[in-house]
Amino acid sequence: MAKYSPFDNFLAVVDMAAAADGIKEDEYVVVKYPERELKVALPIRLDSGETKVFEGYRVQHSTLRGPGKGGVRFHPSVDIDEVKALAAWMTFKCAVADIPYGGAKGGVIVDPKTLSKNELERLTRRYTAMILPMIGPEKDIPAPDVNTNAQIMDWMMDTYSMQKGYAVHGVVTGKDIEVGGSLGRSEATGRGISFVTFETLKKLNRDINKTNFAIQGMGNVGSVSAYLIKAGGGKIVAVSDVSGGIYNKDGLDIDEIVAFLDKGKRLLKDYQGDFVRISNSELLECECDVLIPAALENQITVENADKIKAKIIIEAANGPTSVEADAILNKKGIIVIPDILANAGGVIVSYCEWVQNLQSLLWNEEDVNAVLKRIILRAFNKVYDTATEKQVSFRLGAYIVALRRLVTTFRLRGIFP
Ligand code: NAD
Repeated sequence: MAKYSPFDNFLAVVDMAAAADGIKEDEYVVVKYPERELKVALPIRLDSGETKVFEGYRVQHSTLRGPGKGGVRFHPSVDIDEVKALAAWMTFKCAVADIPYGGAKGGVIVDPKTLSKNELERLTRRYTAMILPMIGPEKDIPAPDVNTNAQIMDWMMDTYSMQKGYAVHGVVTGKDIEVGGSLGRSEATGRGISFVTFETLKKLNRDINKTNFAIQGMGNVGSVSAYLIKAGGGKIVAVSDVSGGIYNKDGLDIDEIVAFLDKGKRLLKDYQGDFVRISNSELLECECDVLIPAALENQITVENADKIKAKIIIEAANGPTSVEADAILNKKGIIVIPDILANAGGVIVSYCEWVQNLQSLLWNEEDVNAVLKRIILRAFNKVYDTATEKQVSFRLGAYIVALRRLVTTFRLRGIFP
């Protein structure tokens, strides 16, 4: 069992970053408390005619630097502590990227695979209606996360718009293009991971053509990261999903695997080819140079941190490393590029989508990808310089960058009333 809950994990890292930068508790205490937490009961009519009540949440951690921003997760293990942590990480992620958002997150305790499409639509619409007083283009802008997608965002946009009486595109991001989505959004997080990966290797003078990668999770983020890193010259030796992993020291055929998985329609356990089957824990400990956790939180813990062979970890998932495990990785000299920096590509392109929606503009994909690259590399270099100057890990460097920005805004805005 992890000693810390995800929100405790967040608080512990914030305190460490503040101490490393000499920021007094009084200057940042405000970010230790989520601004608003809403718990909702969601009755829906099942196709069988029965009524079932689900539980959902929306948490706005901070609106200090702008409207709340963060995804909606549909998963059986969602709980309020996890949603609070995910919301807080969004505040810090947006501050590291220096985009004008606070942080928020939502979730519903459900395994969406057990629902029909109609039931899922009714659940999504009821959830949107119940959190409606909290959301809006100037207040809080949801987006997809684990087990939610563009279709779910389209239903959320429609539900909100029906209450207002006109189409409000800017209320959610990650929508389908035809509903006001942005080109490049669905690949954005994985593309951001690839930019950060290439930049990290460049800084460390490592040749990507001689670098082996292992990727845990082959959903939206993992599969796009794998595809782009391979296209950039990297060799992917191991990948996994919820059904288990596969390993081949000579490299896997990522294009074929991504096509086979077909955006979550199939599982790796049914894929046949030239490899050995491994478990998810074996993937984390396998022989590789770079490990990319791209599934769920709390994967690298005190139980396995010592056994990790990778020299570099790029955190594509949110919160994949526990605080205690992070200390072990640091001691071993493993470089960890933290989640709030590495996976910021998704929210950066969500920002592009929102800006297009507010201005009724349509950007082409090249322009979107160029903005993504510029913002994420600017953030990377700021974190790199700060961590180097303060002689701390990249995680603490990223938290220091975010904390300084949040503290400055808090000081300038002051406390109402
Ligand atoms: P997804 O639902 O598309 O994919 C999740 C993947 O993880 C799937 O391959 C699934 O099979 C696998 N998985 C689930 N449980 C697992 C387990 N116990 N062990 C191993 N693999 C498991 O989700 P996603 O959008 O790719 O998100 C993945 C991570 O990235 C999450 O932590 C999410 O919060 C984070 N993230 C996503 C985005 C985004 O834009 N989608 C942005 C930032 C961060």
